[in-house]
Amino acid sequence: MIAAMDLCGNASSIHAEGRAARALIEGAREAMARFVKTLPRRVIFTSGATEALNAILTPRLERSNRPTAPFDVLLVNAGEHASVLFGHRFSADAVETIGMTPDGRLDLDALAKVLERYAGRRIMLALQAANNETGVVQPVLQAEALLRAASSDTFFVCDAVQAAGKIACDFDALPADALIFSAHKFGGPAGIGALCLREDVLLGEPLLRGGGQEFRQRAGTQAVISIAGLAGALVDMRETFVQDSVRLAQLRDQLESFLRTLAPAAVLFGTEVERLPNTLCFAVPGMEAQVLLMFLDVEGVAVSSGAACSSGKVKASHVLEAMRVDPSLAGAAIRLSLGWTSHLEECALFMQAFEKAFRTIKARQVKSAA
Ligand code: PLP
Repeated sequence: MIAAMDLCGNASSIHAEGRAARALIEGAREAMARFVKTLPRRVIFTSGATEALNAILTPRLERSNRPTAPFDVLLVNAGEHASVLFGHRFSADAVETIGMTPDGRLDLDALAKVLERYAGRRIMLALQAANNETGVVQPVLQAEALLRAASSDTFFVCDAVQAAGKIACDFDALPADALIFSAHKFGGPAGIGALCLREDVLLGEPLLRGGGQEFRQRAGTQAVISIAGLAGALVDMRETFVQDSVRLAQLRDQLESFLRTLAPAAVLFGTEVERLPNTLCFAVPGMEAQVLLMFLDVEGVAVSSGAACSSGKVKASHVLEAMRVDPSLAGAAIRLSLGWTSHLEECALFMQAFEKAFRTIKARQVKSAA
């Protein structure tokens, strides 16, 4: 990224400075394409996953240069990120929300039932690779099989934002038609992402219109420095992927057994199914998440209540709601995320801080009940 700061050229200009910027962007595009196993021309850089999801979740996609009929319906997993739930461009009556099972996975029976009603129609499905609040890995392969069996004209958008760098995220592992990434979730800078396509697809109505950048699918001068950061993070991620995942899962398991011992009443979400190695979502009944969060913050530990993106607002998590978690328990839910830089020392700090917070809150509760 530091080297890219010296590239003052606009990547669309033909002078030497412009060509240098362009070479950097195209190198990054090739790296991203190799990572997901597609062609570079099928990688579109965006300002992040929100933009990529808003761009692709439209009824107007064209597989060739000929205009095609709009999609009839968007089927969307109830636990998707807000950028899917509120960012798609389908009309409200063309959207069907599919519920989740209590273990935090998409309800495949419910999906099958809805698909029966749309058999043979043009169907788009939005299902994330893994959930951002619980870390639960979603049944992408099974959902894809059901989708393809229902109609020959389908499009599967898979938000791989949380899963990137933690589980395999290429088109072999996730057989979707579009994979969405955000660099800051795999070690890159915030504000840059990618929309990766398995085949040539044109956005009938690009979100950003203007210049012809990004194959005319996303107008605007490219963010060269951020794109360099995304490509650098991809390299780092590929080198340490397996070791990091194993190490983080071990730390996560240690934290889990600590919580179970200190607070036996604690509920840990999604533990019955496959989860990302770095995410732990739990609730201690009767202990408000906001209160715990503030105690931990004072001790220098940053955790989230529900989704980080909506942390400013005290609002029940729609994911836990979809998992049919009791609202009072959902209000106590804490999400703990480990990063590549998290080691035993950080976990020990958390345990110390959590135990202190837990005992202080408990003592206060006992006092006010007396
Ligand atoms: N999808 C998921 C699963 C996320 O967790 C996030 C952000 O946290 C997004 C999409 C949106 O990404 P961005 O903020 O980069 O637009």
